[in-house]
Amino acid sequence: MLSNAEFVRDRIRTVPDWPKPGVMFRDITPVLQEPRSFRVLVDIFVHRYMNQGLDLIAGIDARGFIVGSVLAYELNLGFVPVRKRGKLPYTTVAEEYQLEYGSAAVEMHTDAVQAGQKVLVIDDLIATGGTMVAAIKLLQRLGATVTEAASIIDLVYLKGSDAVRATGTPVYSVCTYE
Ligand code: AMP
Repeated sequence: MLSNAEFVRDRIRTVPDWPKPGVMFRDITPVLQEPRSFRVLVDIFVHRYMNQGLDLIAGIDARGFIVGSVLAYELNLGFVPVRKRGKLPYTTVAEEYQLEYGSAAVEMHTDAVQAGQKVLVIDDLIATGGTMVAAIKLLQRLGATVTEAASIIDLVYLKGSDAVRATGTPVYSVCTYE
């Protein structure tokens, strides 16, 4: 019998050399496409985060929106997006982070979080951890307490989840790739 996490992992598709040579892209679209695996995935998060006193779910652009918003709905919480640069219409705060070549930034609306709110931040995957760490810093600058960083997948060998833990934020991932 597969565990729920193994059931989800079985439906993650690996696409070699995408978007560039050497990258093993972990594609969650087959998990989302099949009603049973989508439900099993969301329920793993629902069971972990129900009755935890959370105030908000923050989902990271773009695949973090898919699971994050369904989770927020199920837990009867609000959802706030952590977006890539230049996408949000109102007043924003930004946090830059380094990529292999150049830099990127994540942004949030200045009023997305109230000081003292307990926030779970979620994305599909942690690779180097740069995106997740930037999102956490941004949420903390807005006064949030980030109770945990959640992802569907942790590419453990890139040590991104260690970088996230080094910020003092616990990490939870459904599946790991060693
Ligand atoms: P990082 O900031 O390096 O942790 O990268 C995490 C972000 O990039 C997440 O939003 C992922 O969606 C995406 N990402 C990075 N590497 C991969 C990969 N191998 N497969 C799928 N998505 C990836």
